[in-house]
Amino acid sequence: MIHLKDISFKYKQAKEDTLKNIDLSLDEGKVLAIIGPSGGGKSTLLRVISGLEKPHSGQIHINNIHMTDTRPEKRTVGMLFQDYALFPHMTVAKNIAYGLEKGFKNKKSRINEMLELVNMTGYEKRYPHELSGGQQQRIALARALAPSPNILLLDEPFSNLDTELLVSIREELFKVINTLNITTIMVTHNIKDAELFADKTIRIENGEMKAII
Ligand code: ADP
Ligand code: MG
Repeated sequence: MIHLKDISFKYKQAKEDTLKNIDLSLDEGKVLAIIGPSGGGKSTLLRVISGLEKPHSGQIHINNIHMTDTRPEKRTVGMLFQDYALFPHMTVAKNIAYGLEKGFKNKKSRINEMLELVNMTGYEKRYPHELSGGQQQRIALARALAPSPNILLLDEPFSNLDTELLVSIREELFKVINTLNITTIMVTHNIKDAELFADKTIRIENGEMKAII
C-alpha cells in the first residue's frame, strides 16, 4: 500500500542527512505510529511522504504507483499538521473545499458530508478564529479528508489541545479513521496513543529508523 525504499533526505543548510536510509511498508487500512525524540526527523519523514520535500535518494510507492517525483496534490495523501494551519481568511467551507479539484461536482454536499463526519454540522460559515482549538483541529481533519486521500498523515495531532479536550478528540479522530478504514501514519510523542491505536510502531532517532515494535 505504501512502501518507502532506502529514503535519504537532507535540508540544504544541514550538515548531515536528516533522514538516513529509511525502509518502510504499511498495508492498506493499517495505522503506523512514529515515535522518537524531538528533532529526530519524524515531521521531515511525513513531509517527504506527502511530497513537500523531495528525497535525494530512494523511492516512494503508494498503491504500487511510483510517486517519488509526483507533485503533492497528485499523491492522494492527506496531511494534518501539528498547528492545524487553517487558512485564517477563509470560511470553514472554503477551507474544507481547498483541496478539491476545480471541476469537483457537488462541492457543497461534500463539504456537508465532511462536516458531519467530524461532528461540525452547521459551522460552514465560521472563520477559524471563531472556533476553539479542538474545533479547528476537526476542520483541519475534514480538509485533509475531503479529497478522499488514500493515506492520512497526522503530525502530533493532539499536541496543541487542552487536556480536557484531549480524550474526546482522540476518540473522535480514531473513530473517523476506523470508519473510513484509511491507511494512517501518525507521529506522536505519546507512547499510549501508539499502543492503543497503531498496528505497528517505529522509532526515528537522529534520522535513522530504530526498532519496530
Ligand atoms: P521531529 O519532527 O522528529 O521533531 P523534524 O523532522 O522536525 O524532527 O526535524 C529534523 C531535523 O531537521 C532537526 O534537526 C531540524 O532542526 C531540522 N529541520 C527541520 N525543518 C527544517 C528546515 N525547513 N530547514 C532546515 N532544517 C530543518
Ligand atoms: Mg515534528
